Amino acid sequence: MLSRDKLFIGGAWVAPSGKQTIDVFNAGNGERMAKVPLGDEKDVESAVNAARAAFEGWSGGSAEWRAGFLDKIAAGLKARSDELARLIAQEVGMPLKMAARIQVGLPIANFANYAKLVKEFPFERKVGNSLVLREPVGVVGAITPWNYPLHQITLKVAPALAAGCTVVLKPSEIAPLNAFVLAEVLEIAGLPKGVFNLVTGTGQKAGEALVKHPGVDMISFTGSTRAGKRISELAASSVKRVALELGGKSASVILEDADLAAAVKGTVNGCYLNSGQTCTALTRMLVPQSKYDEAARLAAEAAKGFAVGDPLDEKTRLGPLTSLAQLERVRGYIKKGVEEGAELIAGGVEHPEGAPAGGYYVRPTVFGQVKNSMTIAQEEIFGPVLAIIPYRDEEDAVRIANDSPYGLAGAVWSKDEAHAQRVARRIRAGQVDVNGGAFNMNAPFGGFKQSGHGREAGVYGLEEFLEYKSLQLKG
Ligand code: NAD
Repeated sequence: MLSRDKLFIGGAWVAPSGKQTIDVFNAGNGERMAKVPLGDEKDVESAVNAARAAFEGWSGGSAEWRAGFLDKIAAGLKARSDELARLIAQEVGMPLKMAARIQVGLPIANFANYAKLVKEFPFERKVGNSLVLREPVGVVGAITPWNYPLHQITLKVAPALAAGCTVVLKPSEIAPLNAFVLAEVLEIAGLPKGVFNLVTGTGQKAGEALVKHPGVDMISFTGSTRAGKRISELAASSVKRVALELGGKSASVILEDADLAAAVKGTVNGCYLNSGQTCTALTRMLVPQSKYDEAARLAAEAAKGFAVGDPLDEKTRLGPLTSLAQLERVRGYIKKGVEEGAELIAGGVEHPEGAPAGGYYVRPTVFGQVKNSMTIAQEEIFGPVLAIIPYRDEEDAVRIANDSPYGLAGAVWSKDEAHAQRVARRIRAGQVDVNGGAFNMNAPFGGFKQSGHGREAGVYGLEEFLEYKSLQLKG
């Protein structure tokens, strides 16, 4: 069992103020794999003070100087990538090979990318008689979830540091181990004291203390819409800038003229990635009524191809959910789908055959004949559960796609690219994939409606952490 008993504050590993700890579980077998400190208000206070003290020196240096550290961090993560992939495969449950590519590969690429972007970024611009400057917002409180833990941390920490901000990170209490490795990497990279600080703990305690702290200038949050609303309320009393990356219930719109087999396959893959614990998961598959039977058959067949098993087993395509709470929640939604009259065409609530006992496994599940008003079509399930919704015509499809409190992502499929683009433009969401277009780490990532506000990734993510300042010049 791993034991992490220190927090990283002011450039040193320090004992937390209290003695309490949080258990971390291995998603694959349900065993306790580690414990970490349950940080509290006092720990947050020390971390914020350290970040404040470090701000002037860090923000006063050149972008090139800061970029040098980001390159070193990318190299440091790369050197520990096997260890990180195993750790995340166990604490989150994503199959190992995929975890190495996505959960670790993306953070390495993003640290390196921000080193490059910040060197090219225009921090000053003349507008008439003004010199418009971009300056770092200040001390950033970063609060992150467990589903892509290191990636979500990176999308805040890398651009914030690049911009010249200092950071206090409160990672998810469910998958915090990767954050300790990152802190070690940052320490070895020689980052000045206090520029990055790590406080583990729960949202209610350490998280809220960070949000309320007057020494924090901005909260960058990724997580549930529920917590995002609470954070907005708490941050309002000190008029903090808040960036929110929240949940989703994304629609994959398969048009009449689409390659049905490719579209269904792409949608099922998009739904089941990371066992459905992906904020952009394509959880609603919209198909023309005339194609419904064939689409349902193809989806059920695709679901069968997802071998459920331990994340460290090479044959596994669908790992466990991350926690017991998540397992119960997802099974609750599957029951609800049946109760509300959707047709269960694959999967169900039973423990998947052959999956290890004790782990948090769910069968790859497909519901057919779903109405968009049903709970399973409206609420974020965060499990491998696909809802197939038949539609009458294109207007109906667009209406259904947009009939959601969320607006994070979506997909459109058509053999006619221009047709697909026309429909994609009508979807009220921050990211829409056209015919399975590839993920782009430089494209803005974030949501409309209750999926949040603000954008991460690429230059858009860097701008999140910058203020405008204008100097009015005489001459
Ligand atoms: P969560 O909201 O429960 O927790 C996220 C983080 O917020 C954790 O670190 C938690 O400790 C903290 N937190 C919780 N309540 C808080 C409070 N009152 N004050 C301060 N901090 C608080 O979410 P989760 O279960 O860890 O993650 C799953 C959710 O995250 C899903 O809804 C998913 O869609 C969303 N998500 C969104 C994106 C995105 O970019 N839009 C990416 C990944 C996950």
